[in-house]
Amino acid sequence: MTPSPPEDDDDHSGELAERKMRFLFALRSRGVTDGRVLTAMERVDRGVFVKGIFALRAYEDMPLPIACGQTISQPSVVGLMTQALNVTARDTVLEVGTGSGYQAAILSQLARRVYTVDRFRRLVREAAELFTQLKLTNITSLTADGSFGLPDQAPFDRILVTAAAEDPPGPLLAQLKLGGIMVVPVGQSDAVQSLIKVTRTASGFEYEELRPVRFVPLVEGLGAE
Ligand code: SAH
Repeated sequence: MTPSPPEDDDDHSGELAERKMRFLFALRSRGVTDGRVLTAMERVDRGVFVKGIFALRAYEDMPLPIACGQTISQPSVVGLMTQALNVTARDTVLEVGTGSGYQAAILSQLARRVYTVDRFRRLVREAAELFTQLKLTNITSLTADGSFGLPDQAPFDRILVTAAAEDPPGPLLAQLKLGGIMVVPVGQSDAVQSLIKVTRTASGFEYEELRPVRFVPLVEGLGAE
């Protein structure tokens, strides 16, 4: 075996730094400008949440397949949704649609506590293992049909839905605190959906349409795996 020249190490870390810079640059150029969100996304390595051959593309701004026929969202969409949610360090956040766990990991950097639920046990188990490995102790992951929210932990300061609903689910609206914010993709699952920001005010709910998105559908009941 030939010993590696010392420059090799430098080259490798240089490559990592450059990849990280490109990743952050792509986020900025697509409108993710909030410093706290960018720092959170710099800290959480997306490569850990993508398995097998797709891991090679973890730093590209594209959605990728994960287990159970689901997808990890595009990083810029994760950034824009997180930014729209305007999370503060005091907040308790509910995420519906754990998937790979990447979005929950980002939220965990910004919030006091994150509850994340998925209808697939397997996704919840695998994400929970990653949270333990990464020492993200403020995330609680549960298998549940998130369209009903989490009545036992409600109300929430922030709710993020990462699967498309035909309308913002009523139980989720009901579990939002006064002044709370929910971000949810709304529309048919086979078409382009609208990302909606809902704010609960003293007089009801205010709706703001943010941008077109494409998410897998919010499905009723628990999954088979
Ligand atoms: N936020 C994820 C990506 C989510 S993909 C990430 O960062 O990787 C959408 C997820 O929503 C899928 O894992 C799907 O199983 C889940 N989902 C769909 N309908 C659901 C429901 N009713 N309750 C909970 N999870 C649901």
